[in-house]
Amino acid sequence: MITKITKKLFQKNRLHEYENILKYAIAKNYKLVSLIDWYNNYKETNEKVLILRHDVDYDAKGAYSFYKLEKHYGANSTFYFRWKTMNSKIMNEMHKNNFEVSLHFETLATYAKQKNIINNEKITNKVKQICTQNLSEEIKKFEKYYFKINTICSHGDKRNRVLDTPNHVIIDNKFYKEHNILFETYDVNITKMFDAYISDSSIYANFEWKHSGSPYKMIDKQKQTVCLLTHPIHWNQSFFKNIKMIISVFFDNR
Ligand SMILES: [Zn+2]
Repeated sequence: MITKITKKLFQKNRLHEYENILKYAIAKNYKLVSLIDWYNNYKETNEKVLILRHDVDYDAKGAYSFYKLEKHYGANSTFYFRWKTMNSKIMNEMHKNNFEVSLHFETLATYAKQKNIINNEKITNKVKQICTQNLSEEIKKFEKYYFKINTICSHGDKRNRVLDTPNHVIIDNKFYKEHNILFETYDVNITKMFDAYISDSSIYANFEWKHSGSPYKMIDKQKQTVCLLTHPIHWNQSFFKNIKMIISVFFDNR
């Protein structure tokens, strides 16, 4: 644990590594798109796409650096903000420039923390119904403050792992219809359309790729639909940011 924290503390900014991935994908004729852009315009074509998704768990300014970089390369991407990382100036600018910006929800984890639930037997149907209603209110609130959203994304809190229950269990097709939402990012009907799904490493670990592995490898294999999930906090590091982040994670997990 101590070694992991020390490693984390001294990690340096590596946005240039992300830039290299973008350049490589462009050179190999990939379209760099947001989830909604892929869904509306590419999923039924033969185009090779690299879907860029960012879960803004801790670092809104880091998200902004990704946005600037992607905009520079004519790319488009999706940013999911938690309530605690929302920043209207950044979000509105992204949205105005056709990037997808939406809600990274953690409704069930939040409820479990408020009610001190640590046993998944306590996640009854009644509790799920309350959370569904809460999420419904969150979407309304988000759309009132910001803009209409089309997709949403479930955050993975430590409490979700303790309860062995992800936040997205509170959503079904009826919910999509009622809120005019096309999909949630972990919906199997969506994920089964990806030929590769890649996620960057956890906050404490050194840099590594999860699930399908390196994006370079997937691009070399000419996989048609590649979804790449990154967390801005894993890339835009500095000593002070790392300290701030370790503290935030500590309070998150309480
Ligand atoms: Zn998250």
